[in-house]
Amino acid sequence: MSSDSPLFALSEEHQAVREAVRAVCDAKVAPYAADVDEHARYPHEAAAALLAADFHAPHVPEQYGGAGADALATVIVIEEVARACASSSLIPAVNKLGSLPIQIAGSEELKQKYLGALARGEGGFSYCLSEPDAGSDAAGMKTRAVRDGDTWVLNGVKRWITNAGESEYYTVMAVTDPEKRSRGISAFVVEKSDAGVTFGAPEKKLGIKGSPTREVYLDNVRIPADRMIGAEGTGFETAMRTLDHTRVTIAAQAVGIAQGALDYALGYAQERKQFGKPISDFQGLQFLLADMGMKVEAARQLTYAAAGKSERGDRDLTFFGAAAKCFASDAAMEVTTDAVQVLGGYGYTRDYPVERMMRDAKITQIYEGTNQVQRIVMARQLLAGVQSQL
Ligand SMILES: Cc1cc2nc3c(=O)[nH]c(=O)nc-3n(C[C@H](O)[C@H](O)[C@H](O)COP(=O)(O)OP(=O)(O)OC[C@H]3O[C@@H](n4cnc5c(N)ncnc54)[C@H](O)[C@@H]3O)c2cc1C
Repeated sequence: MSSDSPLFALSEEHQAVREAVRAVCDAKVAPYAADVDEHARYPHEAAAALLAADFHAPHVPEQYGGAGADALATVIVIEEVARACASSSLIPAVNKLGSLPIQIAGSEELKQKYLGALARGEGGFSYCLSEPDAGSDAAGMKTRAVRDGDTWVLNGVKRWITNAGESEYYTVMAVTDPEKRSRGISAFVVEKSDAGVTFGAPEKKLGIKGSPTREVYLDNVRIPADRMIGAEGTGFETAMRTLDHTRVTIAAQAVGIAQGALDYALGYAQERKQFGKPISDFQGLQFLLADMGMKVEAARQLTYAAAGKSERGDRDLTFFGAAAKCFASDAAMEVTTDAVQVLGGYGYTRDYPVERMMRDAKITQIYEGTNQVQRIVMARQLLAGVQSQL
């Protein structure tokens, strides 16, 4: 058996993407990461740099003016940005999350208008599924959309919306038929400038402090009927299909955060001396570093395999998306916590970046479905007999 394509390795194009993103991040993202965290401010420098390099929404297809990155290239972009600054990695990640429903189910007009605007940098996209009383049980949402002639009128509160206020565009899931529960939910595009759209104060968070998280208030927001994404009643299905793909990007974010912490810990362990020698000479510490490296690499391989499934739309993507997100986020939490341990007391201070990485890692176990929810998803797939297509 012979093949011209590399055996189980990244293509040259994908490696080139990594090098290009890393160069941008080393120069224009990493230097601001501590300040962004310290002041809980939007990473404007990173946003500008990612836009200039066309890494702000790399998944948008070329036919809509985007970079046309496949799912694996998009994952590499997000991983590399997260290695430098987790908050900044939410720019390409949430632009994909917010706009993917249109790419999956939207009309050609919606694709032209909104994917084009996103690609040109005219505004970011947010994703509005969660509500104050509907998190893991997202189908229990209350936000209502009522048809009125050629318009829909939306009322409700969306909670925990990443980049709310910064984004120009919002994919909003709302109930159009309360009798049908998940089959009575539809998806819409809402614009920041639509009358009746306002935002809550930014949440005061443990980590990803540079990524604003706000409530979105919809108060009699009247939008044209053609802003519905897909057919009436298909919004929840579209929202779940979107998450199958974007959980892979959260896995990538987790891998990037963990890699950043490992890289820092490796450098530190070789510099810091105790008992007359570098602490990296001690086997007890070497075993810790080895476990960290092993977990990062296992998480990366599962994430890249899931990205391939996302790109091909494989039947077992639901399992792999959940597995990659769950495994990589658990690994990121362990690896960043161990990185703090490698730095000892210094790791526990804001003078070093690993405590920030540990705080940032935590969110990857929670959003786009908690890791308990991911395990529910995986178990359902296994019990339904969906086998790995590897
Ligand atoms: C910083 C941040 C950014 C976010 N960004 C967005 C966004 O952009 N868009 C968006 O729509 N949402 C967003 N979210 C919301 C996020 O997806 C939810 O917080 C998450 O799905 C959990 O919902 P919840 O917070 O209501 O927790 P709950 O659902 O109340 O869960 C509480 C606990 O109970 C557990 N639990 C719940 N049900 C079960 C069950 N059946 N079996 C076992 N355990 C269970 C959970 O795992 C968790 O540990 C964001 C959240 C945060 C914190």
